[in-house]
Amino acid sequence: MRKLTIKKKIILWFAIAIFVLSAASTALTFVISRSVLDQSIQERLIEIVEYNADEIEFNNSLSSVDKEPSDFYISYNGGVLEIDDDFCDYLDGVCTALIDKDNFLIYGETPFHLDKESAFSFTSVGTIEHRGQKYYIYEKPLTGNNLNGLWLRGFISENEVVNILYNVARISLWFIPLFGVFTLLGGYVLTRRSFAPIEKISNAAKEISESGDLSRRIDLKAGEDELHQLAQTYNKMFERLEKTFNAEKQFTSDASHELRTPMAVIKAQCEYALQFAESEDDYKEALEVIQRQNDRMSSLLSQLLFFTRLENRSDTFKLVETDLSQLVASIGEERRILLDDSSELTLDVESGIKYTIDESLMSRLVINLLDNAFKYSPDHPCVSLSLKESESQITLSVSDRGQGITEENLEKIWNRFYQEDSSRNEEGSFGLGLSMVKEIAAFHGGQMSVQSSPGTGSTFTLTLPKKI
Ligand code: ADP
Repeated sequence: MRKLTIKKKIILWFAIAIFVLSAASTALTFVISRSVLDQSIQERLIEIVEYNADEIEFNNSLSSVDKEPSDFYISYNGGVLEIDDDFCDYLDGVCTALIDKDNFLIYGETPFHLDKESAFSFTSVGTIEHRGQKYYIYEKPLTGNNLNGLWLRGFISENEVVNILYNVARISLWFIPLFGVFTLLGGYVLTRRSFAPIEKISNAAKEISESGDLSRRIDLKAGEDELHQLAQTYNKMFERLEKTFNAEKQFTSDASHELRTPMAVIKAQCEYALQFAESEDDYKEALEVIQRQNDRMSSLLSQLLFFTRLENRSDTFKLVETDLSQLVASIGEERRILLDDSSELTLDVESGIKYTIDESLMSRLVINLLDNAFKYSPDHPCVSLSLKESESQITLSVSDRGQGITEENLEKIWNRFYQEDSSRNEEGSFGLGLSMVKEIAAFHGGQMSVQSSPGTGSTFTLTLPKKI
């Protein structure tokens, strides 16, 4: 059973369900039909016997009778019994017999004769067995002019019911398989159609996993059902996987590129010093270059390491409830001390704002944003740092009136190693600052956003949701 495909399991389930349902409904039909038929046969028996009772008349003498050739005349009790030709001694399975009080058959049909003990005790419909067969019986005493003492006795065999049921069974036996085959065919077509998209999804997933080509998508025609939605979800997932995978590839290649350059410089400096250096100054100069490149490499490596620790939510970072206002204000004040006369930093920090943060990470975020604000404001930097609290969130903003960012680059600035102007490649500047800021924001459950236009300046905002 476990090895069967879902399609086969559904069809099998359909087949069993249809069989059980049909069998159950046929059995139910039998039970209901049986009781309905029993009832209607008893009614038929009473109706025919009652009808026949009206067809018997007593006349005092034969001469007083207006004789009909088709009627039947029997001498009885000093007169004549006139039995109309409408009297049905056998009709629709019902036999009717005229009996006198001594249980003698005067006229009519009877399938068997009743003994004296059982006779005259069926004034309502009863049952009686004869030679292994069941009969319904009904007896009616005749009343009226000299008819007292005469009885009508009606019989109908239970076979009448059984025959009808037998016919019902025969019809059902034809219909159950027909109905079954029809439903199974319908089920097969329906499941085949419904499962076609699943086959497509599974084939696409298989091809992607075998070929590693994440640019492939599941090709389904437009539709609204659950499977089409699943395919769309898969396609979105593949899209995100492709993006992440490409970003990882880009990151690895950028990181190795960033490391290769200082290594090449170090190698060149070593070769130069070994071959051409003549004086102590030559060696000193070469060693200074090597030291700078080495510092650059270790700065990059420590930033990469920091990223890894942040992504892995390393235990080094501890979330503690902190006075954020105090922290932000003190970073701003310290920064202000270092500024020259041409630069300006405005602080607008609401006091008493508390949040659960890792102090070292949050400091890094603020310092990074401030560094960028000054770095990308070429003349007379004018930066403002603000911290505000509303009912639902805390916002920290760093604004500058610097060079700004073009709209097409607004998304890219968060990517690792992205630098709008890579020629600026300063010491320790690798285009990792903003992606680190974004990671730190996410670490605290917050989000970063930027508003900027070239020539006007930029505002970087961290939004921290307030926990209710
Ligand atoms: P880095 O500063 O080391 O280049 P970042 O990740 O901090 O790297 O910034 C990425 C890029 O975003 C920068 O190269 C710069 O082009 C742009 N950028 C960041 N901050 C600002 C800012 N305040 N004003 C204008 N451009 C900015």
